[in-house]
Amino acid sequence: MTTPTLMLFNTMGRALAPFSSLEANKVGLYACGPTVYDYAHAGNLRTYLFVDLLKRVLVLNGYDVTHVMNITDVGHLVSDGDTGEDKMEKGARKQKKSAWAIAAYFEAAFFVDLQRLNMSLPSVTCRATDHIQEQISFIQSLEDKGFTYQTRDGLYFNTQKLPEYGQLARLDPQGLKAGIRVDIGDKHHHTDFALWKFSGKTPRQMEWPSPWGVGFPGWHIECSAMAEKYLGGQFDIHVGGEDHIPIHHTNEIAQCQAKNGHIQAQFWMHGYFLQLNREKIAKSGVSLRLDSLIDQGYEPLSYRYLILTSHYRSHLNFTWEALAGAQKALQRLRRKVSSWPEGGQVDPVYRSAFIGFINHDLNMPRALALVSDVIDSDLATADKKATLLMFDTVFGLDLGKAECSTIPQDIQALVDRRLQLKHQGDYPQADRLRDHIQQLGYQVNDHGVESSIVKL
Ligand code: AMP
Ligand code: ZN
Repeated sequence: MTTPTLMLFNTMGRALAPFSSLEANKVGLYACGPTVYDYAHAGNLRTYLFVDLLKRVLVLNGYDVTHVMNITDVGHLVSDGDTGEDKMEKGARKQKKSAWAIAAYFEAAFFVDLQRLNMSLPSVTCRATDHIQEQISFIQSLEDKGFTYQTRDGLYFNTQKLPEYGQLARLDPQGLKAGIRVDIGDKHHHTDFALWKFSGKTPRQMEWPSPWGVGFPGWHIECSAMAEKYLGGQFDIHVGGEDHIPIHHTNEIAQCQAKNGHIQAQFWMHGYFLQLNREKIAKSGVSLRLDSLIDQGYEPLSYRYLILTSHYRSHLNFTWEALAGAQKALQRLRRKVSSWPEGGQVDPVYRSAFIGFINHDLNMPRALALVSDVIDSDLATADKKATLLMFDTVFGLDLGKAECSTIPQDIQALVDRRLQLKHQGDYPQADRLRDHIQQLGYQVNDHGVESSIVKL
């Protein structure tokens, strides 16, 4: 049976395109990593789950994937337009710790979240602060080719020198539309961006000498320099969140095109945002951490399940009800799988349908819906199990794990009774029942109209 072609949406051409790698059976994948001045929020984790799913799909298609991820521990300013303070220095001041200490702390916390969500680690993780020399050399090449100019506060990339600038974001070539004014400081053009910023009068914790003066690298140069170091001047796929399209990836492309004469990656892929109350989730502002979900009685993989229910190229509005639904569905699925015998065969028809969905630009919602078809099919239960465990090599939901926290029937009956009392508006009685359930060793957590139960 032939495997359906892997089709991926390339933001560059705004279309689905058949994927084939530059080198047979090998894929170079670069994913822009976290800025480690705070905990990752659920939105950031959605983007990394997208990267993890992409990687698993590539592996299932027989590719050997070299996955490189940077850690932005310097140079990402409060505004993506090169203004404001460095997020690391600002975070350090707020938390009364050194920038180096918070970088180490939040990087470690980020990896804990990746592991809790069953994400495999990158083949290479590289910190911006460990690659200052590579960034300086990259900037020197741009300077030698005449793409830079210096101002009072740094060295800038001259976007007017690159006619192709802004292709990814389909930016208006004239730059500003008439009538719109933005403060561009000493920059010559509003799309120009910093390659190296000078420390200036404000003392900085992270700074390095350079041919242009003491300072620190701009945010975009770190990815271009490290991607080239670990994946070469041309590789297969570059990924990030949708906010990277107009500035970060646009500027990464410009630097590499100026230096090497071609676009660095074949495919540019972007994960769409997770929202809360229809607003963008951000570290500063409306935030939501994986820890908060765990504190509310959810297991991290229920969040992974929730992410699978929507396509990576659509916005997902987070609700506790949806998460409660995801947890219930996941637990039910695990109970089913663990009740079936081992030793079955993967069904070739369902396998092929599954690959058809995931190879169609990672259509996880359709692939997840296929699970119900397998359950309802007339396959032998051992074959159903083998088939779903094969699906799980991509889903990563630990479907083979026995659901050990199965709630005894008498407890479940009390929980259902309490929910009924709540619906009837008898809150005092419902609260008393909650205390009674707790005395029996189970904690009930409410999430809107749903409840979840955790064994204490
Ligand atoms: P940062 O740590 O801010 O550099 O972001 C890390 C990754 O998370 C980047 O790829 C961002 O594009 C992505 N990201 C930021 N906010 C969200 C969100 N609300 N939903 C999904 N991805 C996001
Ligand atoms: Zn990047």
